[in-house]
Amino acid sequence: MDSKILVTKATLPDFDEYVQEISELWETHWLTNMGVKHQELSEQLRDFLEVDEIDLLTNGHMALELSIQAMELKGEVITTPFTFASTTHAIVRNGLRPVFCDIKEDDFTIDPEKIERLITDQTSAILPVHVYGNICDTEEIQRIAEKYGLKVIYDAAHAFGVRKQGRGIASFGDVSCFSFHATKVFNTIEGGAACFHDKDFGKCLYQLKNFGIKNEEIVERIGANAKMNEFCAAMGLCNLRHIRDEIAKRKVVTEQYLKYLKDVNGIQINKIAGDIEANYAYFPVLFNEEQFGCTRDEILETLQKHNIYPRKYFYPLTNMFDCYHDLYDTENTPKAFYASKRILTLPLYPDLPLDMVDRICELILKCKK
Ligand SMILES: *Cc1c(COP(=O)(O)O)cnc(C)c1O
Repeated sequence: MDSKILVTKATLPDFDEYVQEISELWETHWLTNMGVKHQELSEQLRDFLEVDEIDLLTNGHMALELSIQAMELKGEVITTPFTFASTTHAIVRNGLRPVFCDIKEDDFTIDPEKIERLITDQTSAILPVHVYGNICDTEEIQRIAEKYGLKVIYDAAHAFGVRKQGRGIASFGDVSCFSFHATKVFNTIEGGAACFHDKDFGKCLYQLKNFGIKNEEIVERIGANAKMNEFCAAMGLCNLRHIRDEIAKRKVVTEQYLKYLKDVNGIQINKIAGDIEANYAYFPVLFNEEQFGCTRDEILETLQKHNIYPRKYFYPLTNMFDCYHDLYDTENTPKAFYASKRILTLPLYPDLPLDMVDRICELILKCKK
């Protein structure tokens, strides 16, 4: 029996490289609380991502949640339901109300043409997602934000290393939050970062990730504990050395998929815009059952029978979650709803064998009627 092919597989450095990186921790006994590895990784990521300021956190979710807290937002936040649970939860857990805006059908990012009509006197921010590493319409979102005095927080969990018009994407908006979870393009086992421009915001975030402590005697804010530890930062230092090679390998896998799937009636593949330097994070495929002759769920079932496990990213939409008790209506986001029922994210990771890609595509194409 073949081993399972999952949607992703965590990237690891050579064992010896990691051991070398962590060995000095046995001398210093400094395991967390912003030690040397944390410092080094911050500096390297600031350069790599081409940002003014960066802070490392324990995961991408806390980067979002604490960034929202640090901004002291009130009322409503306009966002997308076509995302991972974290995006919406980060808003709600800050006592704010998410207002769901529909997405564009070609790249699944928030549709800026639909944002303005959702703005009320309660709106304080826009929280779009660079979904699959597709970059939002940053110009139009910025224009709207400036016109109405709103903050912009990007969920950039999928967009590590992506550049737009020659610029690192984390320079857009007030804050961009990355996830360095094991399943992401760049990982620190668990981890995340917030990138920003405003130094005062940075001071606040830094306190919030360490219980709101200012110094030994003064606790200034009601913070959490979201510090990245030294072992995670060391993993990041190792993985960052190889990131360009890893992204290049993802590109080769992506191109192999495209050979089979790019011109098939009933299959919509993810197009990378001309001004984007991509990271090839995911390979989402949208199946139109009328043209393709079978549904997404039937294709998923076929692949699973052959030990291949793609994922329905993103189904269900976050505005359909049980925990939100029918508070929101998916009819307000029809394009997101349409995509969530038809999208399948195929396995993609740097060392996925190309003959496995061949096999996956052949199985999919055999379903076509
Ligand atoms: C992974 C992810 C997050 C959360 O990041 P964690 O590091 O797992 O906390 C947030 N938003 C999106 C879109 C993600 O894919």
